[in-house]
Amino acid sequence: MSMYKEDCLFCKIAREEIPSRKVFENDSTLAFLDIRPMTKGHTIVILKNHYETLADISNEDITNLFQSVKKVAQLLYNNLNIEGYNIVMNNYEAAGQVIKHSHVHIIPRNKRDGLIKLEIPKKEASEEQLNNVIKQLKD
Ligand SMILES: [Zn+2]
Repeated sequence: MSMYKEDCLFCKIAREEIPSRKVFENDSTLAFLDIRPMTKGHTIVILKNHYETLADISNEDITNLFQSVKKVAQLLYNNLNIEGYNIVMNNYEAAGQVIKHSHVHIIPRNKRDGLIKLEIPKKEASEEQLNNVIKQLKD
């Protein structure tokens, strides 16, 4: 079974209708270099099936996706002389998802690469605010 959406860039890449620089491929997933990398080796991992967001992905394909993410992250870490990497998955427009075919970014990092650290300036939340969040999640 294959789920394919017409006019989807990543479906076309998965089917090799559009070429990509492949980093890794298996039956269910494909990893390829981002053509506008944040750092050297920035790689996108996709499922060959079309799903729009994390919530849409079948449990079987979630396993497939993150097994490949782990494999590719190790491949980059072991071969590109990097000190770390960020795994980023944007879901929905508000979070910056542009291509509506669910995908995971692996962004190689070095201590002095000049990119932001994912350390958002945090403000203390009150006990009440924290408790309210928990309450909302349980409703
Ligand atoms: Zn697609």
